[in-house]
Amino acid sequence: MARQRRTSKATQYSIALIEGDGVGPEISKASLVVIDALQEKLGLSFSINQAPAGDNCKKRTGVALPESSIKTIRESDACLKGPVGETAADVIVKLRQMLDLYANIRPAKSLPNVPSLKPGIDMVIVRENTEDLYKGQEFEFDGGVVALRTITRSASERIAKYAFELAEQRGEGRKVLAVHKSNVLRKSDGLFAQVCREVSKSHPKVSFGEMLVDSAAMNLIRDPLSFDVIVTTNLYGDILSDEAAQLVGGLGMTPSANIGADFALFEPVHGAAPDIAGRGIANPIAMILTVAMMLDWLSKTKKDEACSEAASAIRAAVNHVLEAGTRTPDLGGKATTMQVAKAVATAIS
Ligand code: ATP
Repeated sequence: MARQRRTSKATQYSIALIEGDGVGPEISKASLVVIDALQEKLGLSFSINQAPAGDNCKKRTGVALPESSIKTIRESDACLKGPVGETAADVIVKLRQMLDLYANIRPAKSLPNVPSLKPGIDMVIVRENTEDLYKGQEFEFDGGVVALRTITRSASERIAKYAFELAEQRGEGRKVLAVHKSNVLRKSDGLFAQVCREVSKSHPKVSFGEMLVDSAAMNLIRDPLSFDVIVTTNLYGDILSDEAAQLVGGLGMTPSANIGADFALFEPVHGAAPDIAGRGIANPIAMILTVAMMLDWLSKTKKDEACSEAASAIRAAVNHVLEAGTRTPDLGGKATTMQVAKAVATAIS
């Protein structure tokens, strides 16, 4: 059922919503409270179209990602997605490849009153999103399994370009760090590293460096302030972004975007968190900041300044709520998911 509120002059955006599993429905509802506040106070207009997918959907319909949901997603301006559980490979990995959402953007930023490893962390992981071991090419043979890792020049080139352009947009003096393991995976990571070096030559204002993935994992803890934009392959990006999330307060804090040439899907970095599902205590901030990333993308692609203002309003409201000490238990607070969402909505108002 579509949920909509029209205003006289605002463009209406259709958003496909995958509520997902575990804490997914709870944080999705929390994000809708914030979206409602944006509609009421900033005159934006959204129609939210449910696109069921994930474990619960598979139990109900026999399919993790029904054709009807794919159609809803394709017909929408963007997709907002909660986490899915065991069927993640059938849902998000499939959607990323099907819609060619090649750039997975995962910012990790210290926010006020949140237990961060150090204040002032502000990095973005740019993760290649369509290939590597995630192609799912695994084959059994007598006595074992072989998994094929695909790294192509074209996918490496477009993700490297994305990372350098993002670094330029972040302002003066920015740096891109290519993370790989080319000392061991000489051909596959060797190609990725080589392409990053080539692309760096077209972006002389951005400084460029390289780091082996094991060293990056250590240095994220040792010296997190030294990181700016990390560009890396699919699996390393997945692992390092959970680590980066923990640097800034945990998985409940980090949003992400899956961006393609003309469509994008937005989701929190975290998974279904079954250990806290159904208790109303999941931190909704990752999902709420995910809505802000969606608005940034709508602003850029639809050239709509109102979306950019709304994204800024969300971030300011989240900071305000955290400063006031309204926090879920993962951050040391006592607030529920809905109390945090309503506080953010009120701050927007
Ligand atoms: P997946 O394997 O699906 O990628 P994951 O490794 O990201 O999942 P999660 O399911 O996200 O793992 O959970 C990891 C830990 O982080 C759990 O202890 C969980 O409770 C916690 N966590 C994740 N998301 C949140 C959240 N929104 N609020 C509070 N805690 C969370």
